[in-house]
Amino acid sequence: MGKPLQPLSRKLGVALVGLGQYASEELAPALQETQYCELRGIVTGSPEKIPEWKDKYGIPDKNIYNYNHLEDIASNDDIDIVYIVLPNSQHANYTVRAAKAGKHVICEKPMAISVEECDEMIRVCRENGVKLGIGYRLHSDPYHQYVMELGQGKFGQLHKVEGEHSMLLEDPDAWRLQHKFAGGGPLMDVGIYVVQAACYTVGKDPIAVREASFGEPTRPEIYATVEESIQWTLEFPGGVLAHGSCSYKKDADWLKSEASAGKWSLEPAFAYSGIKGHTTEGPMQFPEVNQQARQMDEFALAVLNGEDTKVPGEMGRRDVAILMAIYEAAKTGEAVPLNL
Ligand code: NAD
Repeated sequence: MGKPLQPLSRKLGVALVGLGQYASEELAPALQETQYCELRGIVTGSPEKIPEWKDKYGIPDKNIYNYNHLEDIASNDDIDIVYIVLPNSQHANYTVRAAKAGKHVICEKPMAISVEECDEMIRVCRENGVKLGIGYRLHSDPYHQYVMELGQGKFGQLHKVEGEHSMLLEDPDAWRLQHKFAGGGPLMDVGIYVVQAACYTVGKDPIAVREASFGEPTRPEIYATVEESIQWTLEFPGGVLAHGSCSYKKDADWLKSEASAGKWSLEPAFAYSGIKGHTTEGPMQFPEVNQQARQMDEFALAVLNGEDTKVPGEMGRRDVAILMAIYEAAKTGEAVPLNL
């Protein structure tokens, strides 16, 4: 990670929007380890959560907002960055409102539930002169950074990437099982990591979804509006193929690549910690890092230095376009060209 171009006069203030599992168990603790930003505010629709957040993180009343009053954050100089950690269907609405309030925005993955929403988010952030980043924490992980490098030729010509990211989901009431909140099933939630990894291993955008298919649901009663499982093949320039799959019916977490003179793999690949990697030459060895702390610091540094964000809205938009094309290929049984 670089350093601020100017000596640091203050840390940037972050407000978390949505105090669910990821915000409370990962992002808030990670914000205790950041160098260039810190947790200063919360935006929640659950007043019963407020006392615990005040106690634990010393958040003053003036930095606590209800969803309906997010606009009031515009006049709060403590808050520089608003981090959207809500169900997928609300990412666009809250990103747009935070940007209009003049705050930089980090938005969780998937960026939104349609390409049109992503376009709007990018446009509004640009018009309001604020930066937009997507919460792809693995861009800040050394194992994944090495995978990005390996794809560029250390083991010769890359020809295949394969991966699976699946998560057992048993709660029939989860918002993740409702299309209106999630925009889709495991592809939007965990499969997106496999799509991301294929793109950064190859280092280029895919040119087509060659094929995709939904798996037969084992619990059709709870998979009424989203898929339980899906698999797909992406085609990249030069004929590289990337096979991916994901589901909500088991836990699985791996990524493998093959090139003309060697192979490499990660398993677990997409976890918050404990990633293990191997290449043809032996085990990969990198220090354990706090992915989320690094990710937020990198975003804060881009703001402080007036530089481009490492994981911009355009990348989130590209991925949503790929996910939508995968769904189209699975529904029609036809290949879908991509013009990203
Ligand atoms: P969660 O269900 O634990 O939290 C969602 C939060 O949104 C809760 O605080 C809930 O009260 C609030 N909320 C507001 N309106 C809601 C509504 N209509 N329905 C349900 N909840 C509502 O979910 P989570 O696992 O924290 O996921 C939140 C976002 O973070 C998702 O977009 C998810 O994809 C993303 N996420 C990212 C990672 C990562 O590694 N980058 C990991 C987990 C989740």
